[in-house]
Amino acid sequence: MTMIMPNNLGRQYSLHAEEYEKKAVEVLRSGWYILGKEVDAFEKEWADYVGAKHCVGLASGLDALWISFRLLDIKEGDEVIVCGNAYIACVMGITMNGATPVFVEPDEYDNIDADKIEAAITPNTKGILAVHLYGQSCDMTKIMELAKKYDLRVVEDCAQSHGNHWNGQVVGTFGDVGCFSFYPSKGCGAFGDAGCIVTNSDELANKFRVYRNYGSQKRYHNEVVGTNSRLDEMQAGLLRVKLTHMNEFNAERCALADRYMKEITNPLIQHPKVRPGADSTWHQYVIHCERRDELMEYLKERDIGTIIHYPIPPHLSEAYAYLGKKKGEYPITEKYADEVLSLPMYNGMTYEEQTAVIEAVNAFK
Ligand SMILES: *Cc1c(COP(=O)(O)O)cnc(C)c1O
Repeated sequence: MTMIMPNNLGRQYSLHAEEYEKKAVEVLRSGWYILGKEVDAFEKEWADYVGAKHCVGLASGLDALWISFRLLDIKEGDEVIVCGNAYIACVMGITMNGATPVFVEPDEYDNIDADKIEAAITPNTKGILAVHLYGQSCDMTKIMELAKKYDLRVVEDCAQSHGNHWNGQVVGTFGDVGCFSFYPSKGCGAFGDAGCIVTNSDELANKFRVYRNYGSQKRYHNEVVGTNSRLDEMQAGLLRVKLTHMNEFNAERCALADRYMKEITNPLIQHPKVRPGADSTWHQYVIHCERRDELMEYLKERDIGTIIHYPIPPHLSEAYAYLGKKKGEYPITEKYADEVLSLPMYNGMTYEEQTAVIEAVNAFK
């Protein structure tokens, strides 16, 4: 067998290649490439998919995050609570506005430990960034209770959780804004960079529409200093095709996860846990192993590629040296960074490929 990759985007493409190609040609021939009928249609369809009133297409997930904090008026001097094991982009969304990230340790579900949030709240706390990591919802009940009690804004980062739920409600619809990335490896991945926000607020949705297009609604009439963060027609058209297959993609990933769960029996491996009330769309199948680096090397020698999400927690990254955090300050976060490993997981993964992964993981001693 050839090398098994941690992710294989070509496989997912090949499942519906003709549909994407037909749409791409349609968009090319339309003669209209930015903010047109594909974007309008996709925004309606994505809002319906998550059950939100509005969706506004943007250029990336990071843009969705930083523009959210900008429009919620979170700025220098303000603090935003975020899980310590977040992806670096989550933290950048906060710091690009001059605000300060306040890290809270993850729990056994690899997401923010909601029981530790209250202790991190100060008079400067303005918001919580709820990152639904690896395809699973945070405890949104507790987070929304705290937000209400302390009058905090809540932004949900759903980049890795397209279409999964907390107590039956789709993530992205609990807080003030839900942010999505359509980076190619995400659940509903584009064929380039793309992102969006969802919100139930008419006022906020309108602000995003203005902000993404140089602060203008009417051509050459600029109301605010905005940015250029527009979803393009090609990506929107292709995302519309992807969206029609989302249930099938998520079901396939659930079946792959079920099989890993049942058939990986090596006691050195700790399986991911799904929080009661959440359902996972298995953006990643993240195991914990104390001898993670050895396991990763062992699998690599057997032509099985794995990935670490993420090896360096944001508080220890060079980019955030200015925050003055030291190693040992967030011991759970740091332990997870040393233990986590994402097994191959992608749509179009064959039975034989998964068998090879399972056998190799079980053979590790
Ligand atoms: C991918 C990702 C982002 C950033 O999205 P881009 O589209 O790459 O800018 C932000 N947060 C999380 C959790 C992500 O996985």
